[in-house]
Amino acid sequence: MPLVNMKPLLRHAMDNGYAVAAFNLVDYNTTKAMVKAAEELNAPVICQTSAKTIKYFSHKEIVSWVRTVAEDSPVPVVLHLDHCKDIPMIEACAKAGWTSIMIDASELPFEQNLAESLKVREIAEKYGVGMEAELGQIMGVEDDMVVDEADSVLTDPEDAARFCAALDLSAFACAVGTAHGYYKGEPVVDFDRIAAINSLTKTPMALHGGTGLSDETFAKAIERGAAKVNISTNLKHVWVQSFVDYHTAKPTDFEPLRVMDAQYQACKTMFSGFIEKFGGKGRGSEFLSTLG
Ligand SMILES: [Zn+2]
Repeated sequence: MPLVNMKPLLRHAMDNGYAVAAFNLVDYNTTKAMVKAAEELNAPVICQTSAKTIKYFSHKEIVSWVRTVAEDSPVPVVLHLDHCKDIPMIEACAKAGWTSIMIDASELPFEQNLAESLKVREIAEKYGVGMEAELGQIMGVEDDMVVDEADSVLTDPEDAARFCAALDLSAFACAVGTAHGYYKGEPVVDFDRIAAINSLTKTPMALHGGTGLSDETFAKAIERGAAKVNISTNLKHVWVQSFVDYHTAKPTDFEPLRVMDAQYQACKTMFSGFIEKFGGKGRGSEFLSTLG
């Protein structure tokens, strides 16, 4: 089916107590694996792209992969732009066929962040796509952006309410104690903050830094309003490790298709695990039936 807008999908997720898994694709093979994993579970899925990946390939290539696999599939698929600061690039995505875009101006003071995000609001309206914006600073490394623990700022619920009221977001990214990359120790996730933000904003929350969180953490965050969970670091590691493992096990096999299939299967298994864990199973047709 055609790609879907992220806004009604995440609203459905929040209202029904599950979260949609959002994976950062790295190539056609991973794109196909995430959509197939969703299809086998009758679940919605968000294929998201970092700005870096778009620069490596192109808007045209990525949109053609995602559309190709989504059009052959009966489940709802969103093509989303992850953390981006570059407004012309954001607009280029909306124009090229992305069904959701993200502005991350979170390093700016509140008013400037809101002003930048409002510019992207206009783009989202113009193209009829979903939108995510961020307030507070999430720790860790995302693309080339590094936020030290000392610089990370947890999102204030009252500020979040003002921010979300002005922007009418599909997803609200905020800092609640999770981090990009791998965790060094057990992360301290502020569940009360998630609940407070959600009750004031009534906006589906995007939980960034999903790699390495416990099942219990996911469940508690989703119960409190996390409706989109981002998984990127895990995918990168499975992608490389499955290649290495295949070659280690079969050092004389140089057939690329078998190596790629090993990567595909490993990534698909990982995607399925997260989709099920976030409660996505069976939600694909359930969501589509609400669209009428
Ligand atoms: Zn993120």
